[in-house]
Amino acid sequence: MPGRYLTLSWDDGFRRSCEVIAALYERFGFRAEFNLVATRALSGGPSAVHADFGFWNELQARGHSIQPHGFDHSNKSILTFEEGKDRILRCLDVFSRSLAGFSPERAIFAFPYNTATPALEAWLAGVVRAYRLSAGGPAVMPLPTPATRRIHTVGIEAAAQGLENALGELKASANGWLVYTAHGLDGEGWGPMRREFLEEFLERMAKGEDGVRLISARDLLDQTPGAS
Ligand SMILES: [Zn+2]
Repeated sequence: MPGRYLTLSWDDGFRRSCEVIAALYERFGFRAEFNLVATRALSGGPSAVHADFGFWNELQARGHSIQPHGFDHSNKSILTFEEGKDRILRCLDVFSRSLAGFSPERAIFAFPYNTATPALEAWLAGVVRAYRLSAGGPAVMPLPTPATRRIHTVGIEAAAQGLENALGELKASANGWLVYTAHGLDGEGWGPMRREFLEEFLERMAKGEDGVRLISARDLLDQTPGAS
């Protein structure tokens, strides 16, 4: 368990990008983490920008981690507590009905825009396994424990450069977990990466660059000592 862990946390569920990301991860023996918006998945499909739950169930069956990123993409830091809570519960309800084996107690809720409120955090900590947001401070977190609920993430529009910079912080740490928020590939989503960059990056990770292990948040939380 000790060591340097990296999660790329892919948001918004763009079908074209996620097909490529999943295939690249599988080529190098990795499992990806995808966070999708419930209403977009309900209305998505083969010809839509966003993939539907048929696609996500298939990727989950191939070993990838499929996690909630909201009922819609609303910014929870500017909603009232009741509005924010209602939308998160509606999101978890859609996932429970649409994604095989989904249970809120095992879910990792990725806040849109990585922002929340203290009240929502306090409530959500008792509902899901963990939630992801930008908490400020260093990019690298301590390794998670069974009590970890809050996952800190970083991510900038210049996605590849931001990842390299944050990876430098991880390499300078003896132990730690870096969760980097990313979106799509090749022009899709906010701050997309180039496919060629991701391919080369995954190749570096497969070679075990500086002892960094690429892993989904789901898998790392499941491997945490004491995790049930
Ligand atoms: Zn998003």
